[in-house]
Amino acid sequence: MSDKTNQDLPEGLSGENHPLETVAASAKTVADSGGWVYQKFTCEACGNRLTIDVKNTFYTKGSCDQCGHITDITKTGCNFLAVWPLTEKGMEVEWPV
Ligand SMILES: [Zn+2]
Repeated sequence: MSDKTNQDLPEGLSGENHPLETVAASAKTVADSGGWVYQKFTCEACGNRLTIDVKNTFYTKGSCDQCGHITDITKTGCNFLAVWPLTEKGMEVEWPV
């Protein structure tokens, strides 16, 4: 199993991130179907891509591992990683794809 990264995807505050309400609604659909979701956001100060390691929980603010900046996720938007733990392959997908 390779360590999946976002190297092939554009980084930045636009593109990967979507409005929090929209993302949270999509995440709820995944969670309701047995998936685990992990919120992802981009630090607005240094551009670091962060994944919050608390499953099925979404935050309006997040602190950066690199610079300590608190990002207002309600302004920057976010995305999430969806994991279906019940599947044999332990499939991980980016959502929306
Ligand atoms: Zn940062």
